[in-house]
Amino acid sequence: MPVTKAEASLLSRRTGMSIEDFTWKNDGILTLLNSATTKACVFLLTSSSDISAEGMCSVYEVRPQGCKTYPNVLSENDTAILDDGCPHRAQFPDPTEDDTIVLLNLEERLLRER
Ligand code: SF4
Repeated sequence: MPVTKAEASLLSRRTGMSIEDFTWKNDGILTLLNSATTKACVFLLTSSSDISAEGMCSVYEVRPQGCKTYPNVLSENDTAILDDGCPHRAQFPDPTEDDTIVLLNLEERLLRER
C-alpha cells in the first residue's frame, strides 16, 4: 500500500517505529512493508499467511488514504475499479466517479513526493 510522507510520519509517531522499519520505496514511492511471517501488511494483526485470513489493522485510526479507499484502485486508464486481488471485492459497490477523483488526487500527491 503506498503512503504519503505525512501519512508515514503519522504512523511513525503513533507506533514509535521508524519509517524505514515499515516502508520500502517502490519506484520511488513510499510503500508499506509486508511481514516476512504473515506475508500481509506489517500492521495487520493476523497469525496466518493465507490471503483471505482474518486480521485486524493495528493502526486503523491512522491508516493511509489508500487503505481507506481499498479495494478501489486505479485501472491502467485512470478509472477506479475493484482490485482483482481482493478476495472480498464482491461485497463492495462498484466505484463511482468520485472514487476515481479521490484516487487520482492521491496518485498525484504520491508522484509529487517521489
Ligand atoms: S488497513 Fe491497516 S493493515 Fe491494512 S494495509 Fe492499511 S495499514 Fe496495513
